[in-house]
Amino acid sequence: MSIMIYNTLSRQKEAFVPLEEGKVRMYVCGPTVYNYIHIGNARPAIVFDTVRRYLEYRGYEVKFISNFTDVDDKLIRAAKELGTDVPTVAQRFIDAYHEDVCALGVKEAHHHPRVTETMPEIIDFIAQLIDKGYAYESQGDVYFKTRAFNGYGKLSHQSIDDLRSGARIEVGDIKQDPLDFALWKAAKDGEIFWESPWGKGRPGWHIECSAMAKKYLGDSIDIHGGGQDLAFPHHENEIAQSEALNEVPMAKYWMHNGYININNEKMSKSLGNFVLVHDMIKELDPQVIRFFMMAVHYRNPINFNNELLESAEVSFTRIKTAYENVKHRLEISANLADDAQEWETKLQQFKLRFIKEMDDDFNTANAISVLFDIAREANVYLQSEHTSSTILSSFITLFEEITEVLGLSLSAEKELLDEDIDALIQERNDARKNRNFARADEIRDQLKALNIILEDTPQGVRWKRQ
Ligand SMILES: [Zn+2]
Repeated sequence: MSIMIYNTLSRQKEAFVPLEEGKVRMYVCGPTVYNYIHIGNARPAIVFDTVRRYLEYRGYEVKFISNFTDVDDKLIRAAKELGTDVPTVAQRFIDAYHEDVCALGVKEAHHHPRVTETMPEIIDFIAQLIDKGYAYESQGDVYFKTRAFNGYGKLSHQSIDDLRSGARIEVGDIKQDPLDFALWKAAKDGEIFWESPWGKGRPGWHIECSAMAKKYLGDSIDIHGGGQDLAFPHHENEIAQSEALNEVPMAKYWMHNGYININNEKMSKSLGNFVLVHDMIKELDPQVIRFFMMAVHYRNPINFNNELLESAEVSFTRIKTAYENVKHRLEISANLADDAQEWETKLQQFKLRFIKEMDDDFNTANAISVLFDIAREANVYLQSEHTSSTILSSFITLFEEITEVLGLSLSAEKELLDEDIDALIQERNDARKNRNFARADEIRDQLKALNIILEDTPQGVRWKRQ
């Protein structure tokens, strides 16, 4: 069975066959570092980290590159507002980015190239496009000649004539065609600049990714990822630049993640509803945010609100509690071999189901439901009269294997929710009624380890946090 990937280029799922056997070259557009990332920036970070983790799990050697746009209009504006310079703003929010996505369980990329460190390659790229007749200089700017590239619009499935009729014709235009886009922008007075054959200036946004992908991964890569909002014009323009120069497909598979809405509304400046990860994780376990995102297929939109987050927290805790209970039981269980084979087969089937779901275009939503089924089965197993350390260990391995791929950690750093404590106390009462005192004591110890004290009163069991 091969992994199927939905390719925006073909608008269908295709079997994944890497350019080079066993290896995957992957590029994901990173943030413009002029502020803390919002929850919409966190989604591609989490989605493509999961894609990477799964490909690694399936035995591929993945080279993962994600850039930082560390100079552009927004950074220039932010530097002015903060009374500092562009490199200071960039460094500050690059550090913040690493902190935030690390909390969300995102692995480090192999390289995080920055635009300002790729300037010679960018300038060289532009010069070669001019030489090949795909770009022209105009008053210190350089523009890409969109019509010269055959195949413009193939990613966003639009014809160049449709695009042209929608394009604004600007008065006093220094472009030859309204569809042409900037590769190089002449510096305005007082702005940060680099020297180039066309005078002082800085690169346009699209050329950066083309140059960085080429520098770190080569002319043709396996997977290019980013948010759905980047498909047009950003990725369309990346294709035009890269394929005009390199004369090979830029990427074999183009993957795009869906939007995030806040309380059913689009995130926007005017609505002022940007949710910053930096603020969120002060109050909420970042793993819950990741779990919440994993529970939706990456191509579907996500609606973000507090109720849904709370219910994600409850669900995630349920899985963590099952895992903790299994781990705790393991400490007091001996190795009994009687029904091991039957359970091993059962667990193997869960694992195969997980792989089948993830093979199908990284369906993490269904993978999470497999995880729930494992938790449920674990709870059933814990009810059996004798539990075997072999089977408990297999449960633990399976829990850990799957959550590792999803970038989730099951260790119980967070407090248990009240309703989980109530459920455990109920289980302890039942155990005592059934004269299963070992289980009753085990639950008491488990709660004690989490600083929850039980008191047996005439009215029943009461609990308090220590
Ligand atoms: Zn890009």
